[in-house]
Amino acid sequence: FAPWSDPNAKAMISIRNVTKRFGDFTAVDNLSLDIYEREFFALLGASGCGKSTLLRMLAGFETPNEGAILLDGVDLTGVPPYRRPLNMMFQSYALFPHMTVADNVGFGLKQEKMAKPAIAERVAQMLKLVKMSEFAGRKPHQLSGGQRQRVALARALAKQPKVLLLDEPLGALDKKLREETQFELTDLQYDLGLTFVVVTHDQEEAMTMADRIAVMDAGQIRQVATPAEVYEAPNSRFVADFIGSINLFDGEVTRSDAALTKLQSPEGFALRMVDGQSRSIGSRLTLGLRPEKIAVTHTKPDSGVNAVEGEVWDLAYLGDMSIFHVKLDSGKIIKASVVNASRSGSEVFTYHDRVWLSFAEDAGVVLER
Ligand code: ATP
Repeated sequence: FAPWSDPNAKAMISIRNVTKRFGDFTAVDNLSLDIYEREFFALLGASGCGKSTLLRMLAGFETPNEGAILLDGVDLTGVPPYRRPLNMMFQSYALFPHMTVADNVGFGLKQEKMAKPAIAERVAQMLKLVKMSEFAGRKPHQLSGGQRQRVALARALAKQPKVLLLDEPLGALDKKLREETQFELTDLQYDLGLTFVVVTHDQEEAMTMADRIAVMDAGQIRQVATPAEVYEAPNSRFVADFIGSINLFDGEVTRSDAALTKLQSPEGFALRMVDGQSRSIGSRLTLGLRPEKIAVTHTKPDSGVNAVEGEVWDLAYLGDMSIFHVKLDSGKIIKASVVNASRSGSEVFTYHDRVWLSFAEDAGVVLER
């Protein structure tokens, strides 16, 4: 499933040069984006980056100052929210406290003047879908947070929208429940064949659920790509830093050809990296290295290449892996993560150990900006 890489595929939602200003403040800045049918799409970014505003424009609760939003080729400008074939699930769930679960789920259908027996049938179907059938008669305050989330989902799905917009759908749940629900949501989205656009500030959540992620910053999109691409091939320091953790080494190119680029870091050591292109001598680049790409050893690796010495500054045992913070002689702290899978054969480290960090020439990602 990768319609975005098919040049002939038509986008379902097409956001074209959309700008939204609140007074002098630009919340969404000339943003363009295509989302495809059946895609699970995540808008990811820090608080205030404009992701909710973008979602609200899709829903029709906000109007762009400039640009257009098209759905299946039809311009949605001027189409009120209730006439758009999309529905929104709010972060707060916005359930009516005095209504039963069933009445909450059927509320939108009743407003649309659907016949009572048809409403009852649809409500039963939706509650079954979210595994809440036995709670139909309860009021929201008699439910757990996770159950309320399911009811809100059932209500949002009841009108059978083509697109479901979800604003921080799992924000109110605790970590364990949130992780379980992430997979339930992706299963549901896949089974129903719907298009989901979810807003989240949680990169792990976006990585778990989404087919593609748009990383947003200051009203703009920095990168749109699959979870694997944004992690392994971030297009900028910003994205590299935002997604997961990464060590950044700035440096000056001292040698370069298509096969290899050498970088002199201000910390005083040389980095050799496979880059795939020839750089001009003296230009500045950043090498990004994920913690799991770095090996930690007591002795200097035989090759001596891409190896630097330091001191174990912090050490955390997380079960599946151990996290090292190693302080280089320059004072820079490097984060390395080592899998604990076969501890019997692995070296034992403790605080203040002198260690060597090393990495392969193709382990890093070269960042120009
Ligand atoms: P969060 O995760 O905190 O919800 P967000 O990325 O969803 O953040 P938005 O809600 O889209 O951010 O808001 C983007 C910016 O626009 C913020 O700085 C916010 O203060 C501003 N903003 C949003 N709505 C309005 C409004 N109605 N009037 C004025 N400013 C607004």
